[in-house]
Amino acid sequence: MFAALPPQGEPIPLRDLGRRLDLRTRTLINSLNLLEQAGAVLSGPDGYRAGQTTADDAVAGAVHAADVGARMDTSRVEMMRGYAETADCRRRFLLGYFGEHRVGACGNCDNCLTGAAPPSAILDADVPFPLNHRVRHEDWGEGEVVRVEPDRVTVLFDEQGYRTLSLDAVQRSQVLRVVGEQ
Ligand SMILES: [Zn+2]
Repeated sequence: MFAALPPQGEPIPLRDLGRRLDLRTRTLINSLNLLEQAGAVLSGPDGYRAGQTTADDAVAGAVHAADVGARMDTSRVEMMRGYAETADCRRRFLLGYFGEHRVGACGNCDNCLTGAAPPSAILDADVPFPLNHRVRHEDWGEGEVVRVEPDRVTVLFDEQGYRTLSLDAVQRSQVLRVVGEQ
């Protein structure tokens, strides 16, 4: 497919590309999206054209993009499991997932009613990995802290998706650090 794209020059419309390659539109779009994420394909209002890269690099880049996508999908399932298992306020958990942090407990969900959820949000000063801070994990690379609980921290890693880590474990092994700190 990459070879069918005009290098630089005139972009080729999706319809023409599909006809030339005899591919279903969905297959074509999925592949083009991966190639575009890899920077191997450029898209514009008039269609698609090849970026400045070799076919080998284009394929390697697309495979990498697909891997990252698959890990992100898995991590979203992990997030749903986190919601199911959390002892925290359900509303606060969901708002945190959508990027709104430091909210008080709702007082109405099952965890609030049983008293399991702490009433107020956790403050930056109380935790080693504060919300919205960039962190680096030895194996998983960089990410952003999206959720802080008394005993664990959830990080959205750039290439791994969501991972929930036990504070105890990461502090003992020192695999996680705030970016910019020694
Ligand atoms: Zn609640």
